[in-house]
Amino acid sequence: MLVVMKAQATPEQIQAVCEHIEQLGFRAHPLPGAQRTAIGITGNKGEVDRGNLESLSGVAEVIRVSKAYKLASRDVKEEDTIIGFAGTNASIGGRNLAIVAGPCSIETPAQAFAIAEQVAAAGAQFFRGGAFKPRTSPYAFQGLGLEGLRIMAEIRDRFGLRIVTEAIDNESLALVAEWADVIQIGARNMQNFSLLKRAGRLRKPVLLKRGLSATLEEFLMSAEYIMSEGNYQVILCERGVRTFADHSRNTLDLSIVPAIRRLSHLPILVDPSHGTGRRDSVLPMARAAIATGADGIMVEVHHQPEKALSDGPQSIYPAQFVTMMDEIEQIAPVVARHLPRGIHVAAEV
Ligand code: PEP
Ligand code: MN
Repeated sequence: MLVVMKAQATPEQIQAVCEHIEQLGFRAHPLPGAQRTAIGITGNKGEVDRGNLESLSGVAEVIRVSKAYKLASRDVKEEDTIIGFAGTNASIGGRNLAIVAGPCSIETPAQAFAIAEQVAAAGAQFFRGGAFKPRTSPYAFQGLGLEGLRIMAEIRDRFGLRIVTEAIDNESLALVAEWADVIQIGARNMQNFSLLKRAGRLRKPVLLKRGLSATLEEFLMSAEYIMSEGNYQVILCERGVRTFADHSRNTLDLSIVPAIRRLSHLPILVDPSHGTGRRDSVLPMARAAIATGADGIMVEVHHQPEKALSDGPQSIYPAQFVTMMDEIEQIAPVVARHLPRGIHVAAEV
């Protein structure tokens, strides 16, 4: 259910409706929009009685949301969600494209700084790097853990880049929430519902990657888990799915981008690195992703990919990253987008 407030409804009236909903044993999610505030109602105790709600002051109408996902749906919030990063010009969603770049894993301070310096110079605003790695083999490099987070915090201080890094379990979630700007939840954890709920109780943006074989509805339901706990700052990321195709590591499903944009207000990025697994496919698919309407790109960049401890074959060289940025900058206006180059951080007062 969705309560649509009148355009002139006062904060007190909105508050009173929320309290009424909570007294009935449901959860109220006030969602301010450009024209009016809507209040999403969630809960798993059946349907709320709409009659009472309609009579509360300031209420314009009460609408039944028929989709399985509610808070993630455009039915509940028409305008695109834009996630801002306080004190910077960086954002995810809306007209400006967001570029997240960096190595698969943080390996050493020297490796991370070398890559960060080059992606920052090319105009990225977000730096990615895994400190906690979900690896297929227990004998593969598992990440530097807390040391990796410390290295990324130094990168933020030195270059201004906002940090995106993965949490793989409850323990790493607490650490990542403390050190990073965006919490990544990886493909393998897309349906780890207890982890999603915990991330939902935090007030930091969550970048949710599509599961290895998740349908669009499953993907949005996972976003809903996070939002149902009150964290509305969710960024979706298409990263390829398993198919019979064996010319690429995964099949990058770009057709999900317009489908998501139609059904949901949440921003969606595309990861052509995991989506293809091949360095030579990354730039073409990044171009295509922007053309389909993606809100940005997450890409793996390594200065010495042949020596990388994870995902070297799909990591592009820094020079290729510059080319990718130049190409995206040219494609952006065709799809009414803009690529901001570089992050500006307001001086601390
Ligand atoms: C990653 O981004 O490093 C990663 C492990 O991605 P995914 O969860 O999409 O496999
Ligand atoms: Mn990787």
